[in-house]
Amino acid sequence: MFGLKVKLPVVPRMVRHALIAAALAFLVAFVHLLQPVDVVFWRLQSRLGHVTPSGEMLFVEMREDTLEGPNKDQVLNAALRELGQAGSRTIFIDLPLGRFGNGNTQSAALEGIDGLDKVRLVGRPLHGDDEGELRFPIENEQASKIQKVAAGRSAGPFGYFWSVPGKIVREDRSYGSFAHALARRDGEAGQEYHIDYRFVPEDFLTLNISDVANSKFDPNSVIGRDVVIGFVSMDTNELPSMPGSGEASISFVPIFAAESMKAGNVAFVDRFEVLGVFALLLFLAAAFLNSIRRYAYLLIGIGFAASLIAPIFTALRIESGASLILLLAYAAMRGLSRWRGSIEMNSGQTGLPTLKALTRKLEADQLQERRAVVAAKLHGLSDVLAVLGDEQKLEYFGGIAKRLKIANTELEIFSDDGEHLVWSDVFEERGILESHLLALRAIFAKPLEIDGKQVDVTVTFSADLSFTDAASRRIGNAIALVDKTSLADLPILLDDQQDVMDREWKVSLQSSIDNALQTGAIFAVFQPKVSLKTGRICGYEALVRWNDPERGFISPAYFIEQCEQAGRMEKLTRFMLEESMRKFQVSDAYQYGGTLSVNVSSTMLSNTSLPEIVCDILEKVGFPEDRLIIEVTETARIHDQLTARSVLSALSAVGVGLSLDDFGTGSAGLETLYNYPFSEIKIDRAFVKDITTSAKARTICEEVVTLGKKLRMNLVAEGIEDQETLQLLTDMGCPTAQGYYLGRPEPTPALDALQKVRLAKN
Ligand code: C2E
Ligand code: MG
Ligand code: MG
Repeated sequence: MFGLKVKLPVVPRMVRHALIAAALAFLVAFVHLLQPVDVVFWRLQSRLGHVTPSGEMLFVEMREDTLEGPNKDQVLNAALRELGQAGSRTIFIDLPLGRFGNGNTQSAALEGIDGLDKVRLVGRPLHGDDEGELRFPIENEQASKIQKVAAGRSAGPFGYFWSVPGKIVREDRSYGSFAHALARRDGEAGQEYHIDYRFVPEDFLTLNISDVANSKFDPNSVIGRDVVIGFVSMDTNELPSMPGSGEASISFVPIFAAESMKAGNVAFVDRFEVLGVFALLLFLAAAFLNSIRRYAYLLIGIGFAASLIAPIFTALRIESGASLILLLAYAAMRGLSRWRGSIEMNSGQTGLPTLKALTRKLEADQLQERRAVVAAKLHGLSDVLAVLGDEQKLEYFGGIAKRLKIANTELEIFSDDGEHLVWSDVFEERGILESHLLALRAIFAKPLEIDGKQVDVTVTFSADLSFTDAASRRIGNAIALVDKTSLADLPILLDDQQDVMDREWKVSLQSSIDNALQTGAIFAVFQPKVSLKTGRICGYEALVRWNDPERGFISPAYFIEQCEQAGRMEKLTRFMLEESMRKFQVSDAYQYGGTLSVNVSSTMLSNTSLPEIVCDILEKVGFPEDRLIIEVTETARIHDQLTARSVLSALSAVGVGLSLDDFGTGSAGLETLYNYPFSEIKIDRAFVKDITTSAKARTICEEVVTLGKKLRMNLVAEGIEDQETLQLLTDMGCPTAQGYYLGRPEPTPALDALQKVRLAKN
């Protein structure tokens, strides 16, 4: 708030964990490491889900024995005739006829068949490899007149065929996809169509080709249907495995693909899309939600579960694996950090949760009601602990915590493992809190009983009420405050926002002062000193002012002390000397020959270079030394008298006047006057303000005036606020006066004090 304070963004641990988990998951997604996990999910979904096919397809199987037998051509030929006559729509021949022997596919199967336009030949890559040459079941004269389609894919990950291409392109030509032809759709080249494996082969009407060839089937089952004649190996190891339903003829892959298309295509969500959504949600939950973060996590978990369950019920394929890594990695990091935290969260000696745990709790509570952070200090704890065993210590602290919770059993008491117990409680009003703490103190008047021993507990309290401050600072502040309490006269101490601002202010004071000196927020004002003999202004006292843009005018009485602590006194003194000399020099008042008094704090008297500093500035400004008076304030704080004396003597030798400020108060008394070479005494306002009402004050002033005369020193009475006081001082023969009545401190040395002094004389 004050001065320069650079706040570095602190990334909360949760956000860091979310980011690390996301980075890891994206990396894993990028190299597709979790494909096996996706496949496991997809298999399960396929197995658990079920959809009924359109019923428009019929499967005619040719088993291995037939395919290997000598009559395969005749069987196929007869079957084609039967199927044609029975009114089938199209017939797809998806058989590896050339698989045995020398691979000759010059089959006689098509001979003498009418309506070959119904028949389609399905080509498959020769070596099962995707780009390989296509091999068709029959490759002779008749076959060349038949429409051809192709089944494109080689097996995907883990031997499953998850999708079919829209077109199968070879160097010489492009073939329609078998699945698309079966579904009567057009496939696009380069496009992948996902296969829904919730279908099962058992739901498809299946006939044996030998039965068909021998007319042993119900023709009604064929009418209007698309027939696929496929091959079934006797060795199940040779059959491809369907993700949802075990081994089946390879023809079921395009059959299922065709059914999927008929049912409206499988929607595919790739891993980067899923991961993007979950990573974003997780990040938002970690970064922005506080009290409802837990629910956000729950929702994300439910979302993820839904992404796994939905594909059982609808045609959907999601690559969820990478998101699983995201969530697991995040959960693991959070769990680990919590576990580590929980070890740190309980103090061994007291058995109570630690202040770290309270910090977390307060941070999490931020959005809730205003809370006071209360601290209790156990006085004489070390003596008590010395006589208690470990178990008894736990009992002791437990007993104290129980008493503290007397009004609110829900309260949680935290400990720093030492003499401080801290907690946070809902705050209503200062008064209520104060009386609550007083009541608690009363309760502790009764000793605790531990193992039959009576143990006294003496406790004082503090509370931090700076509601907006950071949790750890509030706790630190409550503890610092309770350390300032005392059993005898200050058992309870409450701190609030203003104190916090003051603390902040002090912390940044050093840079604030430098800043204020530079920007002109710190400047000099001038208050006239009037000679009561001549009625003329005989000089001005320069007083420092600080007009802070945020806090307004700050009293010098307040900030000069802070300045000293911040080690900025020399800088301020130099500034005031130079600034007031310059301002005075250019003012109209300068020509009347008066003096300029500048306040110098006595702590500067330990600085042996002060005379040099003064000389340098006099020279730099060109100010006559005999018109400068140094007012030494707060002489009580002179520590090293020898140095102070030599510094004052040196200043005196330079020719500047030396004034003892606030004479009569503190230790600005006779001893100081005696010890140092002052040329002027300023009698303090404390006496002057009372001379009209107090005979004692009047006598003191008279005596000081006499003292000044006898010592041949100038005497200034400060703090004259009315005519009566001025009159009395004039009558006493006081030579010089200063006060609001004669002139207030002004930004430029003013000239209008004359009038009032005349009035006093009449
Ligand atoms: P001081 O040197 O005794 O200054 C006199 C103080 O009394 C000034 O307060 C002045 O404004 C105030 N005053 C003057 N006439 C009257 C009056 O008739 N009635 C009342 N009630 N007050 C009057 P200020 O400016 O707040 O300064 C307070 C003290 O701060 C000064 O007491 C001095 O000890 C210190 N101070 C001020 N400026 C400087 C500075 O530049 N350097 C150092 N080291 N100390 C300074
Ligand atoms: Mg002064
Ligand atoms: Mg004074």
